[in-house]
Amino acid sequence: MTVTHDSQTPDALDPEALHVPVIAWFDRHARDLPWRRPEAGAWGVMVSEFMLQQTPVSRVLPVYEEWLARWPRPADLAAEAPGEAVRAWGRLGYPRRALRLHGAARAIAERHGGEVPRVHAQLLALPGIGEYTAAAVASFAYGQRHAVLDTNVRRVFARAATGIQYPPNATTAAERRLARALLPDEEGTAARWAAASMELGALVCTARNEDCGRCPIASRCAWRLAGKPAHDGPARRGQTYAGTDRQVRGRLLAVLREAATPVPQSALDAVWDEPVQRARALDGLVADGLVEPLDGGLYRLPLG
Ligand code: SF4
Repeated sequence: MTVTHDSQTPDALDPEALHVPVIAWFDRHARDLPWRRPEAGAWGVMVSEFMLQQTPVSRVLPVYEEWLARWPRPADLAAEAPGEAVRAWGRLGYPRRALRLHGAARAIAERHGGEVPRVHAQLLALPGIGEYTAAAVASFAYGQRHAVLDTNVRRVFARAATGIQYPPNATTAAERRLARALLPDEEGTAARWAAASMELGALVCTARNEDCGRCPIASRCAWRLAGKPAHDGPARRGQTYAGTDRQVRGRLLAVLREAATPVPQSALDAVWDEPVQRARALDGLVADGLVEPLDGGLYRLPLG
């Protein structure tokens, strides 16, 4: 990796020059979040990672606390119907994550004696666990050395190292190579770096407002030093919600979450006027296993 020391040319890709200030910043500014406390254990870390993937911390916190109080171990969740996981997921959004977490808990109970596995390959082999979550759990729960590439980390790396405002819409091989190249050699430092770079993206180098005045690597940030050139990649994915099938699905699921017994079609029809979109959303929920149709036109959260 090239390291230059010209005062005009930052050694943005000198990994150590990034590790030390970012980890020192994290030591001072990391938020005290329940899944970062020792008592959270690997299960707490895993639950938080499922919830945080597409939902902000402030919305995750209350649901996380309730979830861990009700299901303190994977076996506790595994013993419940999947529909209970969907119900407890509440309004976090993207509720297939609840089913996937439930499926992972069952596999942990059946294959791993109820303990979240430590081995990355075993984590990756759990149903519903992808590359990101396996790396995050291995790193945050077990202090291992893995490149953990979430949207926050990708944005920090895009700006500080690559010199562009936003990363591509989907993670690329080049980003993975860069993340591995930036990973500290020592295991504990690598785990700290993963958490620290993620926190920097969450608190300082945010999507809407980079606060370079508070950034510990501002003097080395390639994008800042290049004069912050405007994004010229493909249009960024929007986050529209109103009027989408996602909104309809959310309303339909809310009816089922709040019902103690199966509900009739008419109760679902009442939440959205447009019948074609409503039917499509309900079909999607059934296809995803989030809703179980019963005889007599009744629906409920899945028991299977
Ligand atoms: S200097 Fe600014 S743009 Fe660069 S990493 Fe720090 S906060 Fe982000």
